[in-house]
Amino acid sequence: MTELDNINDVFTQNKFRGMVLVLDGLLGGGKTTLARLLTQTEKHINFSISATTRPKREGEVDGLNYHFMTKEEFLQKKEEGYFLETTERLGNYYGTPKQQVEDALANGEDIIFDIDYVGTRELKKQMGEDVISVFLVPPSYEVLKQRLWDRGSETEESFKVRMKQNAEYLKLWEEYDYIFINDTLQDTLRRLQQILRAERLKRHRQPWLEPFVTNFTAEFED
Ligand code: 5GP
Repeated sequence: MTELDNINDVFTQNKFRGMVLVLDGLLGGGKTTLARLLTQTEKHINFSISATTRPKREGEVDGLNYHFMTKEEFLQKKEEGYFLETTERLGNYYGTPKQQVEDALANGEDIIFDIDYVGTRELKKQMGEDVISVFLVPPSYEVLKQRLWDRGSETEESFKVRMKQNAEYLKLWEEYDYIFINDTLQDTLRRLQQILRAERLKRHRQPWLEPFVTNFTAEFED
């Protein structure tokens, strides 16, 4: 058994507090792929499932991709304090249900978020040190352009808009806890795994340490 398996064992005993991991960065930076890889290769980390009022796209499943709801339902829930944060895009609402995040963290499960920087700021404000934010930057301007084109979903016009948005996003890099160059998927994934493991060992994520140290201390006094 490796030391890491050992850590995962301790996890199943619910001794850790989970964290909220936000992956952000420039569009076309590969963050969605990386987030998926991270949930596939690591235990105890899952995607947050947002609520939205936008129509379901083909292949999307209610409760898996999003919790789909009507605008009336959404606004009612917002009023009741159901969401940690909400945003509006192109006339649709999106929001993060509060209870689902709190339950996961209390159970030692991490949650990964794919939300925008406004959402990231709000999460930080609401949840403080529970939130770890990572900003991914492609190795160069040329690579960014190439990655964006390779997605095959851009027209000349939307490409220009996205590059402009990227210039704006780049200004935000100092708001994040970690920033690194997303060179190859494999290297970036490894770095994300390292961050996850180190962050899990932070003192405030191990509430069991306090009684442990207290008991340990008492033994010296006997
Ligand atoms: P889509 O409609 O393509 O699924 O998502 C549109 C955008 O909404 C994406 O950039 C996604 O990151 C963002 N988004 C999805 N859920 C939430 C949420 O709960 N809060 C915030 N702030 N943004 C969200």
